[in-house]
Amino acid sequence: MQKRAFSLTLSSLVLVAFVANAITPPSTLLERIKHSGELHVLTRNAATSYYEGSQGPAGLEYDLMKKFAEYLNVKLDITVRDNLDDIITQVETGMVDFAAAGLTVTEERQNRIRFTTPYQYITQQVVYNYDNFEKRPRKLEDMLDKQIDVLANSSHAERLQQLKLQYPELSWSEVKDTDSSELLDMVARKLTDFTIADSNEVTLYRRFHPELRVAMSISEEQPLAWAFAKGSDDSLYKEAQNFMAHMKKNGELAYLIKRHYTHASNFQYTSTNTYLAKIHSRLPRYQAMFEKAALANKLDWRLVASVAYQESLWNPHAVSPTGVRGIMMLTNNTAKHLGIEDRTDPSASISGGARYLRRMVDKVSAEYGIQEPERTWFALAAYNVGFGHLTDARMITKLRGGNPDKWTDVKETLPLLRQYKWYRKTRFGFARGNEPVKYVESIRSYYDILNWYLDNGKPKIAERSILAFKSSAL
Ligand code: GLU
Repeated sequence: MQKRAFSLTLSSLVLVAFVANAITPPSTLLERIKHSGELHVLTRNAATSYYEGSQGPAGLEYDLMKKFAEYLNVKLDITVRDNLDDIITQVETGMVDFAAAGLTVTEERQNRIRFTTPYQYITQQVVYNYDNFEKRPRKLEDMLDKQIDVLANSSHAERLQQLKLQYPELSWSEVKDTDSSELLDMVARKLTDFTIADSNEVTLYRRFHPELRVAMSISEEQPLAWAFAKGSDDSLYKEAQNFMAHMKKNGELAYLIKRHYTHASNFQYTSTNTYLAKIHSRLPRYQAMFEKAALANKLDWRLVASVAYQESLWNPHAVSPTGVRGIMMLTNNTAKHLGIEDRTDPSASISGGARYLRRMVDKVSAEYGIQEPERTWFALAAYNVGFGHLTDARMITKLRGGNPDKWTDVKETLPLLRQYKWYRKTRFGFARGNEPVKYVESIRSYYDILNWYLDNGKPKIAERSILAFKSSAL
């Protein structure tokens, strides 16, 4: 009897321990996130952080946070906020797990929150409208009697406060509930003389408004990083640090930065004016043809339109010295192959070009196993230089220790196809390999500009985040 009582007590103890374990809430933030399976991140809608791209949500920080969620093996839940002070407060009070919002690490902010190791460095640039000034303002003194608008609670406002100690006459307005793309827009529309923006943002934005120029930088290089609450629980923060270290070590971070910015830094800003003028004057004539051809080939019509612009500036009678012709600039052979009789017929040319591009996209998938967004860039390069040369460039990329599946690596080796020492190793020989690089980069920028234009000059908020935003109590 006694023995039985003992064993009962033991089993009830085990049971109690088991139940307690099952109902004890996970104690650290990291455990709680893993338990719920969701990571709640706060971001901003900006071309540098998070926006709706052609294949869904995009942006450098989006890519990074998505990888972080994968790293933790949880789902990503994104909330969008514009107001920088709101973002800092939400982080500080633990209402979100962290913020990935293009935040500059500043002294003031470090009093309230803590930052991970930086993922990128920028400078603060003073931006003005070229049409508004006789000569470029180069010194702070040139700004003293002018109107300056900056984002409230931004690192830019913080920097101006510091500069005011040195230049007491310096004055500016702080604009709430907006974002820096809107301020850049104000400068473009001459509603203010100056604004201050991060250099990465200026790089992307100047393609839309070539009249915007950089007067000067008013900061040293500053780090951008993810923001976490302070406090004793650093379980998630530590994982984020490990993740960043991992992304730096394996080159993935450098690759993502290149992928998001190099095409924009190489863009000829001056060509934007012509492009925008032609979006008005010529695109309406061909838009329905682009839409039809894109639909038939499961492509984005804006991509097909950007290719056509790069090829012919939307001129159906364009002709090159080498005999390529028409709005999509098809060679005689390609046209024959696609069954096109009259290459100057825009509808036939567009439909042929779209079919050909689709073929390249499928070939890149089937033969290289490359997925989006890289797949489109590889397909565009193949469209321009030919699949054989592209395959050669991938082989050289590998020989040189690069990754043949990464466009940023292959684009460095494509130009080598002009050098005997490299092309003699290849199957298809010499190619003007610098051209596909320029080709892909220009199309990416034309595509970005067209999207920006069609979305009324603002990066679109991703659908999911709007839902998250509406249903969120934040
Ligand atoms: N990096 C800036 C900051 O942390 C914001 C940049 C922007 O608004 O574009 O205040």
